[in-house]
Amino acid sequence: MPAKKSTRPAARELLFGNLWEFDPAPESAPAFIAPRYGLFINGKFTAPKSKKTFDSISPRNEEKLSEISLAGPADVDAAYQAAAKAFESWSRLPGTERAKYLFRIARLLQDRAREFAVAETLDGGKPIKESRDFDVPMAAAHFFYHAGWADKLSYVTPGRTLAPLGVIGQVIPWNFPLLMLAWKLAPALATGNTVVLKPAETTSITALKFASILQDAGLPPGVVNIVTGAGETGSAVVNHPLAAKIAFTGSTAVGKAIQRTLAGTGKRLTLELGGKAANIVFEDAPIDQAVEGIINGIFFNQGHVCCAGSRLLVQESIAEKVLSKLKIRLKTLRTGDPLDKNTDIGAINSKAQLDRISELVASGVADGADLYQPTCDLPKKGFYFPPTLFSNVTQSHRVAREEIFGPVLSILTFRTPEEAVEKANNTHYGLSAGVWTDKGSRILKLSTELKAGVVWANTFNKFDPTSPFGGYKESGFGREGGKQGLLDYATLI
Ligand code: NAD
Ligand code: MN
Repeated sequence: MPAKKSTRPAARELLFGNLWEFDPAPESAPAFIAPRYGLFINGKFTAPKSKKTFDSISPRNEEKLSEISLAGPADVDAAYQAAAKAFESWSRLPGTERAKYLFRIARLLQDRAREFAVAETLDGGKPIKESRDFDVPMAAAHFFYHAGWADKLSYVTPGRTLAPLGVIGQVIPWNFPLLMLAWKLAPALATGNTVVLKPAETTSITALKFASILQDAGLPPGVVNIVTGAGETGSAVVNHPLAAKIAFTGSTAVGKAIQRTLAGTGKRLTLELGGKAANIVFEDAPIDQAVEGIINGIFFNQGHVCCAGSRLLVQESIAEKVLSKLKIRLKTLRTGDPLDKNTDIGAINSKAQLDRISELVASGVADGADLYQPTCDLPKKGFYFPPTLFSNVTQSHRVAREEIFGPVLSILTFRTPEEAVEKANNTHYGLSAGVWTDKGSRILKLSTELKAGVVWANTFNKFDPTSPFGGYKESGFGREGGKQGLLDYATLI
């Protein structure tokens, strides 16, 4: 008798065929984005003296979301004057009082978490599941954590007193707009400084919405001022004579330029710049766990992550196996509308960034690396790029050396632990690294040999406000988070 033909789909088809497609599941909560925003100076939204504005669009569909004020030098000056005045009283408040405001801010952000998550996703393009489950809760966590420090600063350096620096100028990037704001504001305020902050030009909206939380929290006017604009506004913030310190997160090129202009001014400076992290997988690693860690390490936030695990170093004996598992896993990633709760890879933040990623990927092909991209239906409007793997990459390829800041993984191999360390450290950067192995002793050894500010072991992209974050070499200097982060906003007396 001939065998009956099974009507059940094969396991592969069940997993990867179109039987597994998800229905659209768009997040429906309103983002409450105003049609236009003024500058937030001295506790109030004010029209820019420059009389100039620019649009913030959604990379999701290229639609205009809001009109943002472009702060000129006179606006930046007004922000600094307000911050300098506020410093006189804010710096003298007892820590318990400053803590009270920080706790309020944290709770108000939690209350409005869903609205902030939607706004963040619309303005920046990241998947709603990330803004909802990572960016916004982590931002609140940073305020809670630093609220706890505000009245305990005498325990940071026993026997010494921490004093605030004055007015801090802060310039932040577009990859984690609200979270970078929290990383910058919370420690500055906890230690008694006042602030002039400039968000990135493509992602100003959550910072401006956050200003309304500051109003609701009753934060004294001038303690935090938010000026919007692009590089010229950033430059005015950095070069204002009233700034006691500049805290910058962004590209290495701009970071270097800032360091040059501040030389000799006596202003303090911390820089959190780019990265080209090695994620090192040894043959004794739990492979499936490692594959998940590799995927999360590079595709989280479309790879717009300074500590992204963008260089996979895999031991030669398991390279084939890891590559084939990665290819299978890539097919299950959903790229598309960031507002959809099922989306894994959302929109690329801007047209300029999409062009930069495309150019670097073309260079990888031209240099001779093997490209792999799963077929995926990308939305017609908006800025999208499919998840991409490069195998057969050598250390001289641009995709192995330059920060791509997109969903692109370069795969290199190694034979011995010594070779892994040498290749991992063969970069101008030094922000983060990952090690996957069963051996605790190897983890400890590599954590000291890898020249990176953060070394993750059998995990990747784990963050906590208590844990200091920052770089070596051209990834910058200074730390954010933990007790070390407080020291970068204070002077010892
Ligand atoms: P960028 O450094 O130009 O922008 C970061 C911030 O600096 C923005 O707020 C911007 O307005 C401001 N800025 C720009 N020029 C300035 C100047 N001369 N003085 C003061 N402030 C200035 O980064 P980008 O052009 O948006 O991105 C380019 C590359 O930088 C990316 O491809 C990525 O490699 C890297 N990047 C890294 C991070 C990070 O988190 N480390 C963040 C964003 C971008
Ligand atoms: Mn935008």
